Formats: sequence, structure tokens, C-alpha cells
Amino acid sequence: MKGKYYDYGNGEGNRGGRGTEQTYARPSFTYIQPEICTGCGVCAEVCPLDAIKLENGIAIVMREVCRNCKICVRVCPEGAIM
Ligand code: SF4
Ligand code: SF4
Repeated sequence: MKGKYYDYGNGEGNRGGRGTEQTYARPSFTYIQPEICTGCGVCAEVCPLDAIKLENGIAIVMREVCRNCKICVRVCPEGAIM
């Protein structure tokens, strides 16, 4: 009887866990710190998805396009992207 209860519990837990894992396994969003960005545009040039646009001299990551490859993070001369 006890065993059956635990089996049900584990089954449900695993299913829920998988969904939750996927959500948490995704890297955090790439973010450009506006107070550090100089607007040089290097990040926008290297982004393979054109996910970065310059607005008022500051680079902005379009979250819906960005796939978090972090190429832009490596090329930013100011270290403004995280
Ligand atoms: S590379 Fe860095 S400093 Fe240049 S526009 Fe992009 S975030 Fe700003
Ligand atoms: S992390 Fe990759 S996809 Fe996202 S803005 Fe930077 S270069 Fe583009």
C-alpha cells in the first residue's frame, strides 16, 4: 500500500520535474548594460541572428530573437554584455 503511494508520487514528480528542468536549464537572457555600452555596434555586427539593434546610441538585445549563443559577449570591448 505504501509502495503504491510512493510510485504515484514519483511518477507525477518526474513529469513535472522534466518540464521545470527545461525552463531552468535555459541560459539567462543576454543583457546589455546601457550605462556601460558605448554604442560601437560590434555586437550587432557579429550576432548571427541580428538580435541586437542600436537605439539612441545604445545596443539592445531583442529577447524574442536572441538564442543566447553569447558571441556578442566575447566581442564587446567594454564588457557591457552579460
Ligand atoms: S559591443 Fe558592447 S559597447 Fe559596442 S555596442 Fe555592443 S554592447 Fe555596446
Ligand atoms: S547572445 Fe548570440 S543571438 Fe543573442 S544577441 Fe548575442 S550574438 Fe546575438
